[in-house]
Amino acid sequence: MNELAKFCKTLKKDFTPKIQDAARPVRCWSEKDVLNGTVVDAYVIIFRTRGCSWALKSGCSMCGYFNDSMWKKVSDDDLLKQFKTAMKQYSGEGFVKIFTSGSFLDDNEIKPKVRDEILGRLVETAEKVSVESRSEYITDERLSTIRDMFGSKTFEVGVGLETANDFIREHAINKGFTFSGYQNAAEMLKKYDAKLKTYVLVKPPFLTEKESIKDSVTTIEKIDSYTDTVSLNPTNVQRNTVVDYLWKRKQFRPAWLWSIVEILKQSKKLTDAHVKCDIAGGGSIRGAHNCRSCDRSFLDAITEFSLSQDTKVFDDLDCTCRETWLDQLDIENLSFGSLVDFSGRFP
Ligand code: SF4
Ligand SMILES: [Zn+2]
Repeated sequence: MNELAKFCKTLKKDFTPKIQDAARPVRCWSEKDVLNGTVVDAYVIIFRTRGCSWALKSGCSMCGYFNDSMWKKVSDDDLLKQFKTAMKQYSGEGFVKIFTSGSFLDDNEIKPKVRDEILGRLVETAEKVSVESRSEYITDERLSTIRDMFGSKTFEVGVGLETANDFIREHAINKGFTFSGYQNAAEMLKKYDAKLKTYVLVKPPFLTEKESIKDSVTTIEKIDSYTDTVSLNPTNVQRNTVVDYLWKRKQFRPAWLWSIVEILKQSKKLTDAHVKCDIAGGGSIRGAHNCRSCDRSFLDAITEFSLSQDTKVFDDLDCTCRETWLDQLDIENLSFGSLVDFSGRFP
């Protein structure tokens, strides 16, 4: 275990999971997304599970999803009760997205028979179902069962590659798998005619803003032939994580929205994949932000781009904080990773 992995583990040592109802999902709601080129309503379910197996070992440096997990076994019965509760609000949306704050294809988190029951029920009405998984759980066995169930309907798996750079993934993120592991998973998904959505992290800890823009753009270029969708995922500061530790010491600033727009603009020249960006905590000091006064217009444009793929939505964005962002790109290397939040907001 390297130093970063040890630190990720240490930060969870004194963490006490909240008392939560194992029979209720974390949240469910309906939101806009794209299905076969058309904007539709998509239904989202977040299951409350035991938690990500990797997080239980050490976990990724920016991930605080474990804060929502049970950290103890959740019975099959309770998972099915969560599903039943979620389905009460389901109004037949053609696109359903499932999150577990871990891996839906990990048998230790969701047993195959529970997984099959959930997917079997959803595929009756939905055209497309999307789940998330680490690459090591994307196997022949799991995908062949799902393919039989889905027939001509679409099954999508979101994989948090974060970066195509193995050094950054190991030493800044502690992701625990390699680019070749991702490539194998991508081939496997192709074999079973399933779609791949790749999460790309914007602003991992220990990278400057400029390095992060470059890393995301290079990553999008390198995964072009593997992925159907690219989902940019700007780091937000979640509790009990390495990022939180650094942020409290003014050694981490979430990405500027200017940087995200820059990456999105460049991405369209590099890939035919659908490129999107959901910004958790956008506009807050713990999420990607600019100067406050222009945050809303940037977030709206990014949401619009994620649906339309039209970079013209960024044409009218402007603000005096652009100069500050450009200054930061220039001088950050001189500060050895320690810097104030130039937008004037502090932890
Ligand atoms: S980012 Fe994904 S793989 Fe990493 S700890 Fe969080 S849930 Fe697990
Ligand atoms: Zn601004």
